[in-house]
Amino acid sequence: MLKKIFNNKKIIALIIFFSVLCMCGVCFSSSRSRNPKEIDVDIAIIGAGGAGMTAAIAACEAGVQNIVILEKQAFVGGNTLRASAGFNAANTRYQKAAHIEDSTELFMQDTIKGGKGLNDRELVKSLALNSAKTLDWFNGLGANLTQLGILGGSSVKRTHRPADTSSVGHVIVQTLNKQLNLHKIPVLLETTATKILTNSKGKVCGVEARGKNGNKIIIHCKAVVLATGGFSANQKLVTSYRADLAGFGTTNHPGATGDGIKMAKKLDAALLDMKLIQTHPTVHPTTQTMFTEAVRGNGGILVNKEGKRFVNELATRDIVSAAILKQNGKSCYLVFDDAVRKSLKAIEEYVKLKIVKEANTLEELANSIQVPQGEFIATMTRYGNFQRNGHDPDFGRCSMERPLNQPRFYAAICAPAIHHTMGGVKINTNCEVINKKGAKISGLFAAGEVVGGVHGGNRLAGNAIADIIVFGRIAGKGAADYIKNNGEITSSKANKELTQEETTPLVIANKKGKYKDGKYDGSAPGRHGDIKIRVTVTNGNITKLELIEHNDTSGLLEATLKQIETRMLTSQNTDVEVVSGATLSSNGIIEATRQALQKAR
Ligand code: ADP
Repeated sequence: MLKKIFNNKKIIALIIFFSVLCMCGVCFSSSRSRNPKEIDVDIAIIGAGGAGMTAAIAACEAGVQNIVILEKQAFVGGNTLRASAGFNAANTRYQKAAHIEDSTELFMQDTIKGGKGLNDRELVKSLALNSAKTLDWFNGLGANLTQLGILGGSSVKRTHRPADTSSVGHVIVQTLNKQLNLHKIPVLLETTATKILTNSKGKVCGVEARGKNGNKIIIHCKAVVLATGGFSANQKLVTSYRADLAGFGTTNHPGATGDGIKMAKKLDAALLDMKLIQTHPTVHPTTQTMFTEAVRGNGGILVNKEGKRFVNELATRDIVSAAILKQNGKSCYLVFDDAVRKSLKAIEEYVKLKIVKEANTLEELANSIQVPQGEFIATMTRYGNFQRNGHDPDFGRCSMERPLNQPRFYAAICAPAIHHTMGGVKINTNCEVINKKGAKISGLFAAGEVVGGVHGGNRLAGNAIADIIVFGRIAGKGAADYIKNNGEITSSKANKELTQEETTPLVIANKKGKYKDGKYDGSAPGRHGDIKIRVTVTNGNITKLELIEHNDTSGLLEATLKQIETRMLTSQNTDVEVVSGATLSSNGIIEATRQALQKAR
């Protein structure tokens, strides 16, 4: 697999690019402090991916300047360099300007639904509450993540991307790297942390590392931020938890080997969700290049070898991956047109890598990818009609941005590959690492993919960037606070500082509710005839509303249902406000739900 990664010209180009940056002094290489045997700092950060870099900047902003970052690769950025989706945030100024109605509740609800209810709700709450504010902070550093898009599992346009449509990862790494330079935070490249050191009282007091030439380095510090990412590139570790993933490629950088998890485990850190590993559905099988979900979000569809669509392309990654694996050849084609290509700079990279077939007509494209021409044209025509009507009766896709009728036409073969490991170390909302007995490991903080619990059973696209920046910032501030208060974090200060934003408190019901578990149907008159709703009750709580039958305008009614569903899941009753501009439909949905719940008492 490593061979595959290094065969990928794009990755080699990135390595060269960052090596050149390093030579130009953009990063501080270990050669600046040649073979240091012992270093004294306040905070040691392990890993210079998005989470580690953010934590360093946040700690510095919080007044602790004596920091070092250890990075085992020859360049900074980790998986963030490869990120192409965007930064999910709710209630942002950009959404407000575009009249997109979103809320932290809806963000939480989408994240928990996508995560199959397995998420740590407190961490999800923190992610959602801090998202808009953290995006403002990040854009304040010079990033320009202002363009809105929608990705799988999100109910509304919540993904913030660079205004010039370029890949978000590069913008993020450049922005963070600039800040590291401004704050003069050293990054020891090609330096691998091997052990976290503790004193006789069990407090973290240092890190043992191996430098470029294999020389041992001891870093004495008062706090450590673990930001080593996940373990997607460690086949042995992956298959020890998930034998079914043997032989899968990965979209990750080669450094994603779970070192942080192993180091924390030695300090008795609690681990959770280790079996929850996500595959990304659309990865080029030979180069392992990931086709960003934004290609589908901006209009692309998936077509199998028989020339047919087979799934809602904007369903969550687990669903789309599973559907692809059921197709002939366990792969499919990602199909789009010139309008989609123009909407996304990332596509230019794929074209340059020659992993996309192009044609002037759909007939030519069908021949070139060897799918039955008649079926393929019929599929494209049918989809075009759905797009025009704003309704996909075949698979229920909610957002169909483009009709896919602008030549040239494009198709890329793709299949799932290991993308994100949702499991990792347990933290609290201050990003303090928790041990198996439920106590904090004094002085140890963690953020990013090394942490378990944020994404539950399945991470939504755009939530990783939100995760690393929101929690990277909390971890950095937390570590600084811990040092300034002589080893204590006072009353969740780090988290509170980030959550002053006015938000409605969310009640996602953890407690047993008042209804009988089951699925109940109810109907009531809507704008154009009866609306039939199915309500799911789990653990006594309303957990889902589904539209079973209706004659209303499609798309609009679904959107109204989503908002009503959020309100009911939050309040756990049917006395909710109607959606403005959709009074009749809202009343129909609310009354039908009431009728259904009569049977659940
Ligand atoms: P995140 O998205 O959580 O920031 P990434 O995978 O993007 O995670 O980044 C993690 C970074 O940590 C990578 O650059 C990786 O090379 C680095 N890393 C992993 N293990 C070690 C280690 N033992 N010592 C130093 N750096 C490490």
